[in-house]
Amino acid sequence: MKELTILGGKPVRNSKIYYGRQNIDEDDIQAVRAVLQSDWLTQGPQAELLEKKLSAYTGSKSAVLSSSGTSALHLACIAANISSGDEVITTPLTFAATANCILYCGGTVKFADVNPETYNIELDKVRKLITSNTKAVIAVDYAGLPVELNELKQLCSQYNLILIEDAAHSIGSRYYDNMIGSIADMTTFSFHPVKSITGGEGGAVLTNQKKFEKILRLAASHGITKNINDFTSMSEGSWYYEEQMLGYNFRLSEIQAALIKSQLDKLESFKKRRQEITGTYHAAFSGLSGIKLQKEPPYADICRHLYTIQIVPESIRCSRKEFFEALEAENIQPQVHYIPVYWHPYYQSLGFKKGLCPNAEKIYETILSLPIYPAMTKQDICDVIDAVTKVHNYFIR
Ligand SMILES: *Cc1c(COP(=O)(O)O)cnc(C)c1O
Repeated sequence: MKELTILGGKPVRNSKIYYGRQNIDEDDIQAVRAVLQSDWLTQGPQAELLEKKLSAYTGSKSAVLSSSGTSALHLACIAANISSGDEVITTPLTFAATANCILYCGGTVKFADVNPETYNIELDKVRKLITSNTKAVIAVDYAGLPVELNELKQLCSQYNLILIEDAAHSIGSRYYDNMIGSIADMTTFSFHPVKSITGGEGGAVLTNQKKFEKILRLAASHGITKNINDFTSMSEGSWYYEEQMLGYNFRLSEIQAALIKSQLDKLESFKKRRQEITGTYHAAFSGLSGIKLQKEPPYADICRHLYTIQIVPESIRCSRKEFFEALEAENIQPQVHYIPVYWHPYYQSLGFKKGLCPNAEKIYETILSLPIYPAMTKQDICDVIDAVTKVHNYFIR
């Protein structure tokens, strides 16, 4: 057996490979260059075109751009009218922003535990947390796997709750016949560089409902409208505009909009590549008895943002930390998604206690994200497989 690098052996590869990386080519650069040479750097034609393209791609009636996935979530909570006294149910196995947006609006966060196989929020756990104060559910499509949207929508309509889908991981994924973005009351995307398509930063909220769209647009731009048909008082003249609610500047620049638009044109090819890499990994890792993979229910056509493996503690005689560090030494740089949100000191200071969601905690303690991005070469993929197999075979009982 090959000696692990942490024990003095030779690494599987000489340069580091990371869990995610953007894919920018000449088209993207040209798209950005054209904006820089145009009349508009913000609030211009690129943003409008991108909104249309996002609606067309996802099949949702409208898309409202925002400055980040986090501001998109914040806007969705504003449009859902979350305020003090309202409870919102979400998953702990996510990036902190999914829960922070509830707090921005003065709402109370309720964490529902996840399913140990899919890592997505569990319907029974959501149901048990519903009270007369519950206003919304924010579900996350972990790694790109859509939540059970039909069942979740039904539950939400039964209790008159608004369903917000944090689809930062799942742009490009399909749930049965529908693209992610067209299904929940509001769906949010992130265009951070590690996500499937990027604008450097950026976000969007997709919705089929006019009443949400209207508030999303207002809140993203100071609560101000320039549309004469929407004025509540008489126009003072052609310079006139109205602030109708307290809003923010959550706008996306034209530079970012052009980049995201150019990237969106390539999403289907990125998806294909992510699916090929997934297939190669699945074939290699499903034979390793110390490794468990995320379950992929048949309803999903997944555009994976993350490829995760879980170590099986009963079969592997090392901790996740040791497994992680052994891979790092092989020059395969994993990541961990996620520290349960309520473990963070800030959430602890709000009174949350460890132990609240045992499934999410067990997943956190055993999971690793491996490199997956379209520009990976055959050699990169082989190196990841070699390193994981080498570390696995060393630590297997
Ligand atoms: C990345 C991410 C966000 C935040 O998006 P930003 O664009 O970085 O603000 C929110 N939720 C999830 C699940 C994410 O992965």
